[in-house]
Amino acid sequence: MSPAERRHHFETRAIHDGQPPDPATGAVIVPIYQTSTYAQEAPGRHRGYEYSRTGNPTRTALEVALASLEEGRFGLAFASGMAAIAAMMYLVSPGEHVIAPDDVYGGTYRLLVRVLERYGIQSSFVDMTRPDIVGAAMRPQTRMILIESPTNPYLKVLDIAALAEIARSRGAIVAVDNTFASPYAQRPLRLEADIVMHSTTKYLGGHSDVIGGALVVNREDLYQTLKFHQNAAGGTPGPFDCWLVLRGIKTLAVRMRQHAANAEAIARFLAAHPRVAQVFYPGLPDHPGHALAARQMSSFGGMVSFIVRGGQEAAARVASSTTLFFLAESLGGVESLVDHPATMTHASLAGSPLQVDAGLLRLSVGLEHPDDLIADLDQALARA
Ligand SMILES: *Cc1c(COP(=O)(O)O)cnc(C)c1O
Repeated sequence: MSPAERRHHFETRAIHDGQPPDPATGAVIVPIYQTSTYAQEAPGRHRGYEYSRTGNPTRTALEVALASLEEGRFGLAFASGMAAIAAMMYLVSPGEHVIAPDDVYGGTYRLLVRVLERYGIQSSFVDMTRPDIVGAAMRPQTRMILIESPTNPYLKVLDIAALAEIARSRGAIVAVDNTFASPYAQRPLRLEADIVMHSTTKYLGGHSDVIGGALVVNREDLYQTLKFHQNAAGGTPGPFDCWLVLRGIKTLAVRMRQHAANAEAIARFLAAHPRVAQVFYPGLPDHPGHALAARQMSSFGGMVSFIVRGGQEAAARVASSTTLFFLAESLGGVESLVDHPATMTHASLAGSPLQVDAGLLRLSVGLEHPDDLIADLDQALARA
């Protein structure tokens, strides 16, 4: 990123970086370059594009914008968050070891345990709120520490700078899944992470209409290797999907401010509700990670989890009774969603030590009026 671009604020960069008017027509929105290949003037002589798995101008615009938002030098876009994680995991070789949080995203857990273990890559899942536990879990073969903060679904806050320091001292790579915070609320590269990963399906896309993923790095060597993996394995997004994520990015800042304001109002309401046993929101002063979140993040985000008194059946009744909160997986869209992790997003953890509380509900708080959302939760909780 050039110093001129760095001068601009986040909101401005989200709208302008990587997205100048189209040089051919002046179109103010980056066109959807719906093409698989590019005519060459002579064999090997082309204008930077040969084949759209390798590169596509709509994708380039998105990759530059993503890098800018994360304050990184290089961005890479993928067909899904999992494709981004898979491309990143090719950095780990057989015989090497990965450390991840004990409430890591279920899809990441599945990839590490059910796929990568067969290739001789071992993973440890530990309580990353305790850097000393992570230090103790480090092995000579540890190649990567994979961090998520806030975590899913308990919204634990992990000290990215402290964990990056541990990894660095032992020569391991630090990757941060920044999906829950979004680059608006948290910039892990500033905290010395090596790789930032996103499911752009969530807040970056923001409208529940696209699946996508991203990696952002500062180190040129890492970029070249990851870009090679992106092209070699081929988990690349189509131009229309890139365009949808670009459109979402333009409003990320205003959306995140409202997501967080609504989430805070809902967290306070739930904390005072007699049918609620426990609320998890980093913005609440009694959340164990509150002080760290206030230091490490510029917003507490739009995700709230809570435990309904009465266990699985009560939680299922609440989740089935909301009308504005749709019962659905995913998060980060304009519409509010409620998820029952034990049977939905985290069902693959059933029977494992990482299994989640059956009474837990996770909210992705949308952009509806907060009073309407609170009234919806209130009537649903009455059926708990
Ligand atoms: C959704 C999600 C992913 C996976 O992304 P997809 O776009 O669904 O492939 C990874 N990490 C987190 C934290 C997520 O929420």
